[in-house]
Amino acid sequence: MSAFDNFPLGQPAFVTNVLDRAAHLRTSEEKLFALESRGDARAYVIYRDSLVVKQGETGPRALLSIEEALKFGANPGMVFLGLRDGAPVFGMGIAPQAAEKLVGRSDVAVTELRGMAMQGTVPPDQLSAIAMAKSMVTWHQRHGFCANCGARTAMKEGGWKRECPSCKAEHFPRTDPVVIMLVTHGDRCLLGRQKQFPPGMYSCLAGFVEAAETIEDAVRREIFEESGIHCTEVNYYMTQPWPYPSSLMIGCTARATNEEIIVDRTELEDARWFDRAEATLMLKRQHPDGLAGPHPFAIAHHLVGRWLHGRDVAGA
Ligand SMILES: [Zn+2]
Repeated sequence: MSAFDNFPLGQPAFVTNVLDRAAHLRTSEEKLFALESRGDARAYVIYRDSLVVKQGETGPRALLSIEEALKFGANPGMVFLGLRDGAPVFGMGIAPQAAEKLVGRSDVAVTELRGMAMQGTVPPDQLSAIAMAKSMVTWHQRHGFCANCGARTAMKEGGWKRECPSCKAEHFPRTDPVVIMLVTHGDRCLLGRQKQFPPGMYSCLAGFVEAAETIEDAVRREIFEESGIHCTEVNYYMTQPWPYPSSLMIGCTARATNEEIIVDRTELEDARWFDRAEATLMLKRQHPDGLAGPHPFAIAHHLVGRWLHGRDVAGA
């Protein structure tokens, strides 16, 4: 299967969620304990940007039994992600010392998630649950202390809340909204590249939504700041959860009202207009100068692809 088959137009990574979040089960310690103890309970074990996978004859297996996860050294604190076909699924973290002990073993691997997803070694229908596990495990690792009084907080409600025993403040997992947009001018689209992109790769411009800002204003502000282009007709297309660590990419389109690009070199290495023929070759990785568009894994690919196809493919 190619990346185009794994992520057909309108379906980037992390959007196909097959889990029932079953939020009603989170509030009962008794029910959660019963779920953890079930023989069919499974877990994704997250280590930084990687996943601990069991190596089998048919390839890597991302969902581990709780027994396997604990044997590999995962932390016992579990986040209840939901039910898959009725079976409970959890997210677990693992300490660096335990993860390092797994290196070099033949039955287990610690593998970078993005690479696995791009290559299709993790089935696309599991990526959303893994994204959930990754965001939640990372949040718990970074929020062990109360932001209000500094006391150590405790995990509650299957991991969907942390509570401070000292000042009683409640802390909830965060999601950071990011706008990502395809700006067009006539028959051309605006793409830029950041220094850390692979050589020749261009993508849609993007940036965090700021406090008390609308999505439309964020699109117009980010585009102007990074490229000097003014925009109008901002429209929403689709969203993509992006677990690095917990963003929600809000895919939009907009129409430029001026042409002259002034690149903000602190943000971008370059930004240019590309016509449809060039953008098509870039998405297919057939551009004669070696230029490339975003991978089908990412929402940016789908924003460009939708524009090239000239139709709304959301949900197609
Ligand atoms: Zn507190």
